Amino acid sequence: MVINIGKAEDNDFVVDDPYVSRHHACLTNKCGEDQWLLEDLGSSNGTFVNGTQVIKKYVTQKDEIRLGNTYLLDLLEVLKSKNDYSKEFADLKQVYDKYIEAKVKIQSSNQFKIRIFQSLPFALPGIVGVIIGFLGKGSHELFAISLFIAICAPTIGIYLGAKQSAKVPQLLQDLANQFKIDYVCPKCGTFLGEIPWESLRKRKQCPVSSCKAKWVKE
Ligand SMILES: [Zn+2]
Repeated sequence: MVINIGKAEDNDFVVDDPYVSRHHACLTNKCGEDQWLLEDLGSSNGTFVNGTQVIKKYVTQKDEIRLGNTYLLDLLEVLKSKNDYSKEFADLKQVYDKYIEAKVKIQSSNQFKIRIFQSLPFALPGIVGVIIGFLGKGSHELFAISLFIAICAPTIGIYLGAKQSAKVPQLLQDLANQFKIDYVCPKCGTFLGEIPWESLRKRKQCPVSSCKAKWVKE
């Protein structure tokens, strides 16, 4: 991880001090979390560790880091500020879009099937009537079968329609469960709710007070 420090807004840690350069220094952690390589990026007023000017030096939280003439850099504050999860957050847009797409697909295909099943009771007697009209003249057996179908069809249609609508809650439940796993803050893992990604983007950071992950880089 590299943390850029300076007066310019595009730094990870912005310092507002007259003796600090626009791109003053950077910190890189190459040896684990406690030790950082501090590098001066050609600043006008220099970078100092424990009073000595440095170009490159490994530092820990115990060292006194000074940028320019007066600004003392608190390493802990700098590390806390590195909360940039904009890349990970951007990936969540796809998660949300896919969820909505799948949900709509389940609901609309279900409505179509239910409608077919429910129209069956009304369509069948008509079809049966036509068959009888053409073929069934004088045939008592065919008439009996047709009558049977005409009476049973509504029941079957209602049964199939009900069965189909019962399938849907399970499908939606499975989808929602997966969504709860995928649509979470990239830092703290808190489920973000069924809130459109665009709306979350406007919040810019995680509302969990212990997290404060930045979702949008400013
Ligand atoms: Zn969070």
